[in-house]
Amino acid sequence: MRVSIVGSGYVGSVTAACFAELGHEVICIDIDEEKVRQINDGYPPVWEAGLEELMNKHVGKRLIATSDYDYAVQNTDVSFICVGTPSSDNGEIDLSIVAAASKSLGESIGSKNAYHTVVVKSTVVPGTTEGVVRSILEDYSGRKAGDTLGLAMNPEFLREGRAVHDFLNPDKIVVGSLDRRSDSIVSDLYRDIDCEVTSVNIRTAEMIKYVNNAFLATKISFANEVGNICKRLGIDTYEVMDAVGRDFRINPAFLNSGAGFGGSCFPKDVRALIGSAKDLDYYPSLLESVIEVNELQPLQLVEILEDKLPDIKDKKIAVLGLAFKNDTDDIRESRSIPVIRKLLEKGADIHAYDPLATDNMKKVFPDITYASSAQEALEGAQACLLMTEWDEFRKLNTEFDSMDRKLLVDGRYLLDPEELEDVEYEGLCW
Ligand code: NAD
Repeated sequence: MRVSIVGSGYVGSVTAACFAELGHEVICIDIDEEKVRQINDGYPPVWEAGLEELMNKHVGKRLIATSDYDYAVQNTDVSFICVGTPSSDNGEIDLSIVAAASKSLGESIGSKNAYHTVVVKSTVVPGTTEGVVRSILEDYSGRKAGDTLGLAMNPEFLREGRAVHDFLNPDKIVVGSLDRRSDSIVSDLYRDIDCEVTSVNIRTAEMIKYVNNAFLATKISFANEVGNICKRLGIDTYEVMDAVGRDFRINPAFLNSGAGFGGSCFPKDVRALIGSAKDLDYYPSLLESVIEVNELQPLQLVEILEDKLPDIKDKKIAVLGLAFKNDTDDIRESRSIPVIRKLLEKGADIHAYDPLATDNMKKVFPDITYASSAQEALEGAQACLLMTEWDEFRKLNTEFDSMDRKLLVDGRYLLDPEELEDVEYEGLCW
């Protein structure tokens, strides 16, 4: 099939490369000319394991990029909207980018003769695809959805860092559609993936994505709350959760306590669901607490640090890990951000290191020092905060010897204090 993908970020570039891998002809559309150039040169605009290989394999053959909507729409039959849906200042979803992409698509579809299907892959609150996207598309194309315009919603569940793998090996594929024709067009795109398609209506598809993320975020905040209580009781929360997770009704995933969840999805999606509920006069107290626990969690790291090192002004503090999780360069809502902000407020001399995310973090904190290795960040430091579960940090040991004071506050349960010699080790929840 011929598919255009609007937005070439984490979701769009992975969707594009994977659809090409599945044998479809793909055109990426992005308003960012630099991303368009990068893709056409065979380089992914974001870092994801396996993405560069797929881009190299398909670019120029089954995959190209453009900023020209008309060209892309004329030469494809289905367009996926994969643009960002950030939180606005009040926490509710900001749909302005989705609206702009819908308008551009609508205009291009209006100047085409054949049937065209638009699929929303961006995470949008229930009612958006039919209420916002549909009306903009109809207004600007002069067509009616369900007539010569197909409409569907196909949420994405990939995990950053494992996005290519997850796209090609999903647990579920959800397609919400306006009519049977749209459903069969979208379902057909996935026919070579070994996974049943769950066909629902559009609002249900939109809600499934939010409930999925809200449940996972709730699990994490629950595990963190339990971890905070266990720490005060002197009980190993990892032993507790290991046993609890063996209950098949609970499942072991997402029960590790630590510095909390970040990334472009969990925080903003939980906030958007809270916003939608409040708009309907329902106060979602559980979800509010999920966010509250998550905001407090990274700050506890700084409190633990200050317990051990009361005056951190002008002290060299190594912050290891800037990405919101391992195997990605994405720093959106990374738990390192509130930690660095708090350390800066207190006048610490921060030396940060991350294997992939340094360039992105420089845009947020241009004035801290960035090291080119963990070893360099640690040299002469008074303390180290471990923030991201990078594999290379699990191997740290003798590197701590170069610190002025070997004080380590582990925010991710990465290191075993018994294997570290002469290190003052403090875990966040253990
Ligand atoms: P992103 O910010 O990485 O990428 C968005 C892209 O859209 C950028 O390249 C931007 O230049 C482009 N863009 C902006 N306006 C445009 C326009 N008018 N026309 C064409 N391109 C335009 O976003 P992302 O992380 O890929 O997320 C996209 C959506 O997918 C969001 O709704 C997000 O919640 C959802 N989602 C993300 C993930 C994830 O792990 N990142 C997982 C599942 C779902």
